[in-house]
Amino acid sequence: MIRLATSQIGLDGYRVDGEESGELLDLANDPVARAAGAIQYDLTVTRAGDELVVQGTVAAPLSLRCSRCAQFFSTTVRVSSFLHAYESAKHPEFLDVSDDVREDLLLEIPGFPLCRDGCRGLCAQCGQDLNESPCGCAPPEPEASPWAVLDQWKAAPGSPPPRGRASQGRT
Ligand SMILES: [Zn+2]
Ligand SMILES: [Zn+2]
Repeated sequence: MIRLATSQIGLDGYRVDGEESGELLDLANDPVARAAGAIQYDLTVTRAGDELVVQGTVAAPLSLRCSRCAQFFSTTVRVSSFLHAYESAKHPEFLDVSDDVREDLLLEIPGFPLCRDGCRGLCAQCGQDLNESPCGCAPPEPEASPWAVLDQWKAAPGSPPPRGRASQGRT
């Protein structure tokens, strides 16, 4: 629980930094993301009229499952501009920002996490992790391009133009 003591707010606001258990993220049953350490927060709460404005940064080390190779890898998700406002009157002594910290961090988890830019993923045929080693499966057929036939024809001058799609509309 990340609670800020609102009674401590001075003219310059009140700055709190520290760590909070990664359990706050409530990822115990999540299939693709796990907490991998303490959440770091550095927040400043200030008064603005009837509101308390909290801004700062929060970050959490996570273990995410790569959407291509299904291996877990370590990363850190960051909210670099946490910014939320709360009604002053409702928080005379303490303001609990746990829910907003959790929600903002969860929003930063990528929809298709990748363990590395060029992750090769798993072979669709045998399931081999292609980052570790290639498998013996035949490579998938390259996509048929309508220009492929034309390219072949150009490559062999003198040969008759190919039949089929690439020659349509040229006569
Ligand atoms: Zn991967
Ligand atoms: Zn394979």
